[in-house]
Amino acid sequence: MKIDVAKLSSELLAGKRKALAKAITLIESKKAEHRKVAKELLEKILPYSGKSVRIGISGVPGVGKSTFIEALGLYLIDKGYRVAVLAIDPTSQISGGSILGDKTRMEVLSRRDEAFVRPSPSGGSLGGVARKTRESMFLCEANGYNIIIVETVGIGQSEIKVASMVDFFLLMQLPNAGDELQGIKRGVMEVANAIVINKADSDNMEKAQLAKKQLESALSFFLMSEGGWKVPVLLVSALEKRGIDNVWEVIEKYVRIKKSLGKFFDRRKKQAIDWMWTTVYEGIREMLLENKNVTDLAIDMEKAVIDNKITPSFAADAIIEKFKKTICLEDGL
Ligand code: GDP
Repeated sequence: MKIDVAKLSSELLAGKRKALAKAITLIESKKAEHRKVAKELLEKILPYSGKSVRIGISGVPGVGKSTFIEALGLYLIDKGYRVAVLAIDPTSQISGGSILGDKTRMEVLSRRDEAFVRPSPSGGSLGGVARKTRESMFLCEANGYNIIIVETVGIGQSEIKVASMVDFFLLMQLPNAGDELQGIKRGVMEVANAIVINKADSDNMEKAQLAKKQLESALSFFLMSEGGWKVPVLLVSALEKRGIDNVWEVIEKYVRIKKSLGKFFDRRKKQAIDWMWTTVYEGIREMLLENKNVTDLAIDMEKAVIDNKITPSFAADAIIEKFKKTICLEDGL
């Protein structure tokens, strides 16, 4: 595939939908030549990205994410926004299949011209999938989408990854009070800017109220973030399209407050720097694990540590030394 970067970027900036799909496919490609072109493309469009509100949404399978995102997306389109929905599916790397992508999702929303719905990139490490989604986000912004929703299943580390690439992170919960806060991990609670209790309808109303109280009291143990933002717990019925306007009000208010305090773009700058370092660490880790000399030594070291022949820190020193030496040899240093 020969790609004309100048043409692709001008079509992308002109809002052409086909160009967006093509650019994302390019970003997702593992081929070295595509990576090179993708980098050129990203450099070209980066100055035109950023003009959106980036919203992260997570929750267990079945909580109602696609129903909710569809309702929120349609609501926002009615308000004049253009909405892109991206996803990070952490399960594809484990099972090869996917929780998010296998069924037809958000059919009504996908059919709208003002919406762009893209399933999760498949395969590779969570870091790799997250990178592709993050880069796709910039492409969507350059293509004229001013609301970006990044969705993930609430398992593993993917929520933290999503929270680290968005302006506002929303955690979706079921109306199950008493289930020990539904196993929400502390780390996830700490990155949530709002919690939505979905399916607050029909027989569930009482349970939803109870869950709300429980979550609010759990949240009161956490420190409020700078600017005094108190994480709200909102009752929603995505199915009946109730409470969607409240969620949007909360997001708008959050963005307004953060912008007035000058914190909105600070968060993005910090995310960009954190992202750079995470990518460096992940890259070094990958290099290390691909280096046979090092992994051979690591196996010996693990055994030695278990047998109490060497302390973990000396073993680590030995592995790092070996890594440094092999890198120097490769570089001819
Ligand atoms: P996801 O796996 O998190 O994307 O969940 P889905 O959006 O696919 O929803 C899972 C099931 O819950 C579907 O049968 C939906 O119709 C249902 N559902 C979603 N939202 C609501 C809601 O607000 N109320 C009720 N009663 N059911 C809902």
